[in-house]
Amino acid sequence: MAFKFTRNSDGTGTMETDHGAVQTPVFMPVGTAATVKALDAQDIRETKAEIVLANTYHLFLRPGEQTVAEMGGVAKFMNWNGPMLTDSGGFQVFSLGLGAKGESLSKIDEEGVTFKSHLDGARHRFTPESSMDIQRDLGADIIMAFDECTPDKIEKKYVREALDRTHRWAERCLKQWEKNGKQSAQGNQQALFGIIQGSTDREMREEATKFISALPFDGIALGGETVGYNMEGTLEMIEWVRDLLPKDKPIYTMGLGRDPDNIVEIIKAGIDMFDCVAPTRLARNGALYYGEIRGEKFESEFSNGRLNISNTQFDKDKSPIMEGCDCYTCRAGYSRGYLNHLYRSKELSYYRLASIHNVRFMVRLAEEMRTKMKAK
Ligand SMILES: [Zn+2]
Repeated sequence: MAFKFTRNSDGTGTMETDHGAVQTPVFMPVGTAATVKALDAQDIRETKAEIVLANTYHLFLRPGEQTVAEMGGVAKFMNWNGPMLTDSGGFQVFSLGLGAKGESLSKIDEEGVTFKSHLDGARHRFTPESSMDIQRDLGADIIMAFDECTPDKIEKKYVREALDRTHRWAERCLKQWEKNGKQSAQGNQQALFGIIQGSTDREMREEATKFISALPFDGIALGGETVGYNMEGTLEMIEWVRDLLPKDKPIYTMGLGRDPDNIVEIIKAGIDMFDCVAPTRLARNGALYYGEIRGEKFESEFSNGRLNISNTQFDKDKSPIMEGCDCYTCRAGYSRGYLNHLYRSKELSYYRLASIHNVRFMVRLAEEMRTKMKAK
């Protein structure tokens, strides 16, 4: 079965993959090394997440794409067996493996990027073709084009060079994907998404949108440093390119979804897919999401929509993290007081219970937004 995206007149949609259907807009939890940190596959299913993201860079370094392929592909490997997306490794080769002064140790040329592993310093090389081949072995339902994620504060001349190269790489990715039969090593169909770069330059963003939209990609992503870090900048960029984006393809903002109000705003801006490591990372650091959508906005009595469970005000609190939350942790009767104790004692069960709440919270916000869109 080929990948199919259907958009309804209310803006919601459905992506059909060989591993199942995904309703959009959708929040995708991040399972960097084929695990959503602290959660097992059953926990992920319990959050009602429909699709999980894994990182090509990490799985390439460890355990290696061959191992994952021999284990039946990443979805089977992690016993999730549901829809998955892998990124291209592009973002990590530029942002990880930094030198002593934080400088990037990767070297870019027309053919690809040579980089140092953040694990052992070993040198490796990614090209558009090898990224497609590695993602073919990993076997996700959606794979991403290999691009150069350009920083915001950089000379316009460099943005131009990087953008032109990213576009040449996009065409090479399409070629390699077609050569691979648009299939994973395990035989499931793989959709390929193109990525719009162009830093914070409006003209270049518009040009990139036209260029990427005209190519036979199955979906379109908005990439770059701004996306995921600067919500205002991201919304402005979406505004620039919105009318140039195809209506019949899913649109994905990469790495966006740290704050609950981000999810609400990004869905209102017409985005179909987003992912973020923040829900699990924040959970591990004691920050638990709290709040709800009232009318058109996300509102919370805690700043940034999160309560800090380590706070002494919670140490004898018998209530769940959030009254009315349908996550396993809140439903099963775990109290704020108990979680406060587990967190302070660095007990391992804390990480699981807290991550379940935060992931379910984001998944549920997207569900609620879908319901609102359908009711309009
Ligand atoms: Zn909860």
